[in-house]
Amino acid sequence: MGINRRVESLIRPEIQALSAYKTVDPGKCIKLDAMENPYSWPESMIDKWLEKVRSVEVNRYPDPAAVALKKALYTYQDIPESKGLLLGNGSDEIIQIILMAIAGPDAVVLAPEPTFVMYRQIAVSLGLKFQGVPLNPSDFSLDFKAICESIEAEQPAVVFLAYPNNPTGNLFDEAEIKEILRLAPGLVVLDEAYAPFTDASFMNCARFDENLLVMRTVSKLGLAGLRLGYLVGDERWIEQFEKVRLPYNINTLTQLSAEFALENRVVFDEQTAKIRQDRVELFAELERIKGVKPMPSEANFILFRVEGQLVDSSAIHSELKKMGVLVKNLHGAMPLLDRCLRVTVGSPEENEAFISALKKILDKSIQ
Ligand SMILES: *Cc1c(COP(=O)(O)O)cnc(C)c1O
Repeated sequence: MGINRRVESLIRPEIQALSAYKTVDPGKCIKLDAMENPYSWPESMIDKWLEKVRSVEVNRYPDPAAVALKKALYTYQDIPESKGLLLGNGSDEIIQIILMAIAGPDAVVLAPEPTFVMYRQIAVSLGLKFQGVPLNPSDFSLDFKAICESIEAEQPAVVFLAYPNNPTGNLFDEAEIKEILRLAPGLVVLDEAYAPFTDASFMNCARFDENLLVMRTVSKLGLAGLRLGYLVGDERWIEQFEKVRLPYNINTLTQLSAEFALENRVVFDEQTAKIRQDRVELFAELERIKGVKPMPSEANFILFRVEGQLVDSSAIHSELKKMGVLVKNLHGAMPLLDRCLRVTVGSPEENEAFISALKKILDKSIQ
């Protein structure tokens, strides 16, 4: 039997039909495609960190329970003392842990779309049914009636709601989410990956003892390279997920570095406050460009549509790249995102380079 035949017969058909998560090689581009914090650490902070790294014993396994890091998370993030905490190698891994724990022949995973692609990707890779419910095309709010009907019909084991949503940047209506929490027969995961850039949160919502789980990550805060996500919820849920988590999923360097970073939380608070301010400026700049329609955002990125029959967002994406600015092209992902691009809020210099390149490209395409 040739290898192709073996692959075809061994690998589950749903895996064969998937494509792996892709990123574009940024080369020397200004990187505004992945919601990274553009700022580095003060020199003195780097020195202190390196001093700590020096003492690490990489010949030893990490603390499987990550006790010190968890303590720092309770202290420096607003996690209620009474709640359980699960750590993941990025929140991506937490999504995987939750779905592995609920996977069964009849389990359905539901989320509005467009949203974070990993909910669908991981559900499908585990052989679960994924039910997407389109958002309202005009403002990307929840199609509340459609969601309620879909929950009623599908009885999903898990509903994922990104709050704020990626790639649209908006918050869903709080009252509607509370109604979804009430209606959902299974778990509702509020994915607060962009918590550093909004005041809205479900972290202190009273539904924790029932079916609410709040998921966060340190990635968008400025620690994307560490790969650390966490899930907050009633201990009775967390206890079950702990059985699925691999024992040493948070490596020693991540545990040490994240704990250190949290102790220096003010540095990150200043950086994210600055990004929030610059988001206002970037939005205003985009709004001033004819033929560009930005969506209001509560995250560290802005989704915008290029309007007009002749403007092709894929061409704009590649022209921007040629001019040294990498953003995310969302055209073709689904009809709701036609002619849409997503730009991360970078440093003022990066934002300016992006705006100036975009203006040049649009001027040229109109002539
Ligand atoms: C970026 C992002 C994540 C992924 O976070 P990691 O912790 O880096 O895996 C999760 N959810 C949403 C909505 C995101 O945009």
